[in-house]
Amino acid sequence: MNKASISILLVEDSPSDAKLLQQTLWHLGKEKWQVVHFERLSDALNACSKSIFDIVLLDLSLPDSEGLNTVAKFYTAVPNIPIVVLTELDDEDIALQAVANSVQDYLVKGQITPNSIGRAIRTCVERGQILKQLRESEHRLHLIFEQTFQSMALLTPEGIILEMNQTALNLWGRQQQDCIGKPLWELESWNFSSTNQEWLKSIIAKTADGEFVRHELQVSSTDDAMVWIDFSLKPLKDETGKVVLLIVQGWDISDQKHAEAEIIKAWEQERELNEMKSSFVSMVSHEFRNPMSVIRTAVELLESYNHQLSDQQKSKYFGNIQTAIRQMQQLLDEVLFWGRSDAGKLQYEPTLLDLENFCSELTQTLQLSASNKYQIIFSFQGKHTPVLVDENLLRYILTNLLSNAIKYSPQGGIIRFDVICQDDGVTFQIQDFGIGIPLKDQQILFETFHRASNVGSIPGTGLGLSIVKKCVELHQGQIYLESQVGVGTTFTVKIPLNHHSVQSLELIESGSDLQTQSLLRQRTLRAIR
Ligand code: ATP
Ligand code: MG
Repeated sequence: MNKASISILLVEDSPSDAKLLQQTLWHLGKEKWQVVHFERLSDALNACSKSIFDIVLLDLSLPDSEGLNTVAKFYTAVPNIPIVVLTELDDEDIALQAVANSVQDYLVKGQITPNSIGRAIRTCVERGQILKQLRESEHRLHLIFEQTFQSMALLTPEGIILEMNQTALNLWGRQQQDCIGKPLWELESWNFSSTNQEWLKSIIAKTADGEFVRHELQVSSTDDAMVWIDFSLKPLKDETGKVVLLIVQGWDISDQKHAEAEIIKAWEQERELNEMKSSFVSMVSHEFRNPMSVIRTAVELLESYNHQLSDQQKSKYFGNIQTAIRQMQQLLDEVLFWGRSDAGKLQYEPTLLDLENFCSELTQTLQLSASNKYQIIFSFQGKHTPVLVDENLLRYILTNLLSNAIKYSPQGGIIRFDVICQDDGVTFQIQDFGIGIPLKDQQILFETFHRASNVGSIPGTGLGLSIVKKCVELHQGQIYLESQVGVGTTFTVKIPLNHHSVQSLELIESGSDLQTQSLLRQRTLRAIR
């Protein structure tokens, strides 16, 4: 087929009409046209599936189809070919109806001249090509609308949804037909809160007035999960400046928001850690300053008044110096011990222990050293056979809890120390009637350097309980507390006795065992002082 020529599909059941048309076209110059003729609609449609035509000249009355039906059938099967209908003189009304729908033009048989047919064909083919390009361009734009990562919707200025892209439907888990024709604020992603709906209505009104609106907000998505979106509403105006459409765009920024929240959290933790470190440093310095000033005073007195001081006074000052040095050494050791426990280097080494005897001796030692305004009441219930525990770690746990009970009961009084030993586990309970712990502080006391807000001037570094917790965990045990401010505190430690396997937690370097034991001894002494 000559490329420059126009290929015409002629569907006409009257051989004389068909011949006349072909002759008219021939008069226009036969090299311009390629005409393929069929008498039946079905044959013409069949030919369209095999060849491409630029235009169809379609008679409405065919053996297998009649009137406007012929146009409808042809257009449904081959929507892209421009149609020119061929009508009888008295069919003009039908022809006009056809043109109002999918038909490009019509020609009345008997009035067809070479000029009229030539003009009609050229105009229709050109129009057909423009329509084809428009359709292709619309298709491309629609693909972009559908495929973009952004959720997009088109609204009337009143907020009614005209179209919604796939990303928006995926995000909100709905079908086009559930959304089209509805106001945007009626969708489930908005109607979970009336405040949200009212806000959306107000910004739709603003956009309909020509404003561009953009906000970060949360809407509900599929599974009712809340998602953060960067939401914008943009007015689209016609050439007169009237707003004819609203473009809704939503960008899922939940990941970004979560990352931001994580960064803020990490930053806050970092800040908190820094604060804790500096308060720890000032606390430790403070604890060092006291014994150092004791040493300085004693040394000055010994130096300046050496000859006036009696032997008894001198040995008192030397004693003060020794105590202060020991206190500093203990503090230093404690900080180092905490450092090791924090690095996971504490070792669990269980041995068989007579628990009742051990706890009773510990009580006596603490009672002897505590001022006589305290009374520690020890009770033991349950089985009296030796149990498998780590003696050093247990001493650390109990000494700390008992010394805390004493330290945080400044008015003195009773401290109860109850031990219940059963086959599967042992429970230690240390109860005091001291200052208590505010509820808001209770969760964080087992973290390093944390102290309750009501300690006042009672000294402490906030390390004890964090190490206690580690020692309890090495026994696979649990520790919890009950407390009420001004009423008292009970710490409960539960240690299971049915696990005999020695845990292979990271070993401390050789020799540091002795260090731990000496520290535990020192800690006991310091705690009871
Ligand atoms: P140290 O490291 O010298 O033991 P500390 O006693 O302050 O210092 P922890 O033993 O860890 O530290 O206790 C942490 C905090 O828990 C204490 O500062 C105190 O606020 C609170 N606390 C612990 N035991 C009691 C108790 N029996 N009564 C009231 N508050 C307590
Ligand atoms: Mg303590």
